[in-house]
This record gives sequence, structure tokens and C-alpha cells, in this order.
Amino acid sequence: MSGTTQQSGVSSDVLAHYEPVIGLEVHLQLKTASKIFCACSTRFGDAPNSNTCPVCLGLPGALPVLNRGALALAIRAALALHCTIQERSRFARKNYFYPDLPKGYQISMYEMPLATAGWLEIPLDGATKRIGITRLHMEDDAAKNLHEGFPDSDRSSYIDFNRCGVPLVEIVSEPDFRSPEEAYAYLTTLKQVLEYTDVSDCNMEEGSLRCDANVSVRRRGTEKFGVKVEMKNLNSFRYLQRALEFEIERQIGVLESGGRIEQETRLWNVAVGQTEPMRSKEFAHDYRYFPEPDLLPVHVSENWKKEILAQMPELPAAKRARFLRDFQITPYDAGVLTATRALADYFEAVVAAGAPPKSAANWIQTELLRRLNDAGKEIDQSPIAPASLAALVKIVESGQITGASGKKVFAKMFESGGAPEQIIAAEGMTQISDSSEIERIAREIIEKNPDQLAKYKAGNEGVFKFFVGQMMRASRGQANPQLVNDILKRLLG
Ligand code: ADP
Ligand code: ZN
Ligand code: MG
Repeated sequence: MSGTTQQSGVSSDVLAHYEPVIGLEVHLQLKTASKIFCACSTRFGDAPNSNTCPVCLGLPGALPVLNRGALALAIRAALALHCTIQERSRFARKNYFYPDLPKGYQISMYEMPLATAGWLEIPLDGATKRIGITRLHMEDDAAKNLHEGFPDSDRSSYIDFNRCGVPLVEIVSEPDFRSPEEAYAYLTTLKQVLEYTDVSDCNMEEGSLRCDANVSVRRRGTEKFGVKVEMKNLNSFRYLQRALEFEIERQIGVLESGGRIEQETRLWNVAVGQTEPMRSKEFAHDYRYFPEPDLLPVHVSENWKKEILAQMPELPAAKRARFLRDFQITPYDAGVLTATRALADYFEAVVAAGAPPKSAANWIQTELLRRLNDAGKEIDQSPIAPASLAALVKIVESGQITGASGKKVFAKMFESGGAPEQIIAAEGMTQISDSSEIERIAREIIEKNPDQLAKYKAGNEGVFKFFVGQMMRASRGQANPQLVNDILKRLLG
């Protein structure tokens, strides 16, 4: 049976004979107030070229000094990724010419990186897969080119040096991914861990997190890796996944038609939905790396490493395990509630304020997250404080108001930020748990509906629901459902 033909002209049967091999390189901006080798501010959005000095402008004779705070954050990121911190590492000059690189070289770690041999576990088909991290090293960022006008006429280009010298770490993975989905899962997991550790804001729109993907294909069952292509310009995880899908098919198409894969760099063209050649490795730069003479080698003492490890916040996997253990919620709930540190903190605050964990988890997931999402708000902008939500949950659990009324109160709390007790009092929503009052209403309803009563007496049990409905209507949904049930049974029976 032959499969459908893909856009590359290769059938799905043939595609299935190949296995993709993928490795990722992630650049991450560290969350420091000042740049990596000078005291200029790293603030995003300042007036162009306002945060510059002789060091980050690459003026001759200016001397760089390593930002200790940036190094501490890099160490924290590396430890969160289970890397070995090298006692000694060293910066090197990576020489190339580009208008956004005023020094004529980038300062990056080359043959002696800060950290090596780490790993990250990613979720995969209900289990996990361990992805190797080859290295994590520090480097400075380049400036930003801005282009204006039409491509063929009247074109102006500008350079903003504010970003030049901002501290980065590069995290290089092993070629351990076997599908674009795995690459996607790694990036979301990595971003979550890095957000938890607070080393970066991981903001892709502002360029704090950027990713290049390397991909090759080989026939299934063979060991040897194919020739890899590097892809740049992947500014969202979804684009990255789509670019990989496209590129894998393209490579298989080339091999199937008897061609060879060139080692090259390609760009993802969002508009067209395809990868296009950028530069081939033959013309690639020889960077002429050499040790940076203006900076001392980096020394990380055992004590400093221990200190940073001691300050490490609880990481997502540990938090999920603790939630499962302490709160008896489902693995699914634990996953949702630990998506971000802020959400996990919110949930824990609701529980600490006295709400039963299972109910707190339900209210947050069904009511709160849905409304925040509709309002385009983050959890730390929630109009309902954890203590107020806990108060509402306790009121509902104690039977003072019904679950249905609870949802109405929640909606009002979300709109006004008011306290549940006040809203319940103002709306007169208190649940009617006075059995004589419920009995009075029940007698009235039965009296008004002799036909339904006769049907019930004749054995039509379905009519019971009719009476319950009438009761809830008469009490504006406030009658205690259990009492309604018991009293109706008694009076009808
Ligand atoms: P380069 O010398 O081109 O920088 P590296 O060996 O340093 O190449 O690897 C860069 C990235 O490419 C790493 O993330 C690595 O996992 C990945 N990689 C290496 N070889 C392959 C391959 N054959 N197919 C896919 N990815 C690869
Ligand atoms: Zn500067
Ligand atoms: Mg390399």
C-alpha cells in the first residue's frame, strides 16, 4: 500500500524509512542590571545607543571586566541543568567582521567552557526522555541592526548598540532528538526550568531566548549520522517545529533523488513556510579563536558553587513530586499547577489559607485560569487574592452557599475584587439550610401540582426531578440540595 505524497514529492512510506537527528543551540540573555564586561544598563526599550560606553562600543584600549553577577547566574543555570561546573574556564576571541560587532570579535568561551555534560528530562508519550547537554558557556551579545524603507530604493540601516555586550549563555544539546516534537518538548521544558531559576526572563519577543536547530537524516537502522544543516531565525517554538518538519522532508527528498546534503546554514522563511539557503559552510568564517588576553581565566571555587546550589529554587520536577505527595492531587493537576512558579505559589497560598488542596486545584483550573485567559491576564495580575479564593472555597465546602452560587460569587469577585462574604450578603445568596423553611416551600409546590403528584404516586419516578427543579426555582437556587432531596422524598412518599 503506498502512502500519500508529501510536498517534497516523497511518499509517506519513503519518509518512514528515515530517522531525523536533531541538536539544539539555545542563546539565553541573563537577567542582570548591567552588561557582561561593563557597567552599562541592559534595560530593554531605552532610546537607541543610550546605554553604551568605550568597552561595549569596542573602542581601542578599553578593558573588559567580567560581571560577577552574570557569572553567578550562568552557574545557577548550569547547575539546574545538572552540568559539571569546570573549576577553570576561559574566554576566547571569536574573530569575524559584521557591522553589529564593533570590536571585530565576539568574546565567547571556546575550548574551555564554563560547564559540561548536563542533562534535561523531557516529557514523551507519558514517560520521560533524557536529553544530553554538551556544554553551557558565556558570551557577549552583538548589537541590533534595524532596516527601514523598501529593499530596492531609499533604504536606511541603523545600528542600536544598547544590546551590544549584554550577557548571554549558550546551551548546546547533544544530537539526541529524534523528532521535531521532541525538540519542541525540550524547548518548553528548558524554558520552564530557566524561568524557575530566575536566570532569565526568557522573553522571545525581546530576544532574550533564541534558538538555532541542527538537523540531519539517516536511514533507519543505520548508526552513522547524516550531514547536518543548521537553521537560524526561528523565533518561536512552533516555527522551529515546523521548520524542522519541512527541512527533514526536504533532506529526504534530496537523498531519494540521488543528491547529497550540503553542510550549510538555512533560514526559515515564515511567509513562504520553507527553509532557504543562507550561507554554505565552505564560505563559513574561520574564526581564528584565541584566548582573550584582556580577561583573567574564570575560577569557580567549590564553596561558591555550593553557595549557589544552596540558593537554588525548587525546580519544576521536584515541585510536581512534592505536590503529588503532600496534596494528593492528580499528576495532571500537578503538571498544570506547576506550569509557572507564580501559579504554583498561588495554589500553595490558597491551600495555606485553609482551602482543601483538591478543591483549590479545581477552582483554580476551572474558574480562575479560564477567566484569566479570557481577560488576557497572568496569574500575578489575578483580581482575586489567594486568601479570598480560599475563603470562597471554605464557604462552599461548609454548605453556606451552593456550588452554583459559588460560581456566581466567583464571577463577581473576579469583576470587583470584593470579598466573598460581602458579595454573598449583598446578593442574598446564603444557602437555605433551614429544614422547616424548605418543607414549607415543598408543601406549597406539591399542593400546586396535583397532576404531577398523581403521576408520581402512580409510579412515574421521573417526576421527582420536576419537583426538585421547582424547589430550586422557588428558592432561587439557594435551597440546600441534600435537604431538598430528603424532604421531597419524605413528603411525596
Ligand atoms: P559545529 O562544529 O558545526 O558547531 P557541533 O558538533 O558543535 O557542530 O554541534 C552543534 C550542534 O549540532 C549541537 O547541538 C549538536 O548536537 C548538533 N549536531 C551535531 N552533529 C549533528 C548531526 N549530524 N545531525 C544533527 N545535529 C547535529
Ligand atoms: Zn558599556
Ligand atoms: Mg560547535
